[in-house]
Amino acid sequence: MRSITTFDLQYAHRFYGFQGEAQYLHGHTGRLTIEVEDTVNEGVNMVYPCNEIQKVAWDVLKNFDHALVLRHDDPLLPAVLDVYERTGLKDGHPQNRMKGEAFSTSLATAYPDARLVVTKETMTVEGMIKIVHELLRDKLNIVRLTFTSGVNAASADFIPQARIDRCPLCGISLSADGVCPKCGYRKH
Ligand SMILES: [Zn+2]
Ligand SMILES: [Zn+2]
Repeated sequence: MRSITTFDLQYAHRFYGFQGEAQYLHGHTGRLTIEVEDTVNEGVNMVYPCNEIQKVAWDVLKNFDHALVLRHDDPLLPAVLDVYERTGLKDGHPQNRMKGEAFSTSLATAYPDARLVVTKETMTVEGMIKIVHELLRDKLNIVRLTFTSGVNAASADFIPQARIDRCPLCGISLSADGVCPKCGYRKH
């Protein structure tokens, strides 16, 4: 069975070099749907708590929220960094509080202090699905990701790669040593 959750990300981006309006900087509310699949965890009668999927995903994906997403070779990147530097935004600001944990994968690098994500490929909806899967595939048993942004939407199915031991009392992932970080249950 599947547990499914959806949440929104607000970001600015552009398709550098694309022949169309999307080569201009613009913004979206993107909507990500994550589907995880597993057996029903008998202790709690659910596959995986949806609020926990959101929490695990949001810890890294909030890097995309109220953020600028630019391709690594976009000439806007040094220009924006220059302005952020001169105006005290590049290395963090007292009002930049909702920061994600920095990450760097083969497809994207997040700079939470500057609310900037630099991507290898253009961040289309397809590109975002590839980025999200790479970030979360070891943390959640993802079988489908769907991302919509404006009139664009993409969806992809995956073979789950994670092997997740779940707490029989609250449903979330146990730590490597078999302890539940939320309720303290111990497997052994
Ligand atoms: Zn767009
Ligand atoms: Zn628990």
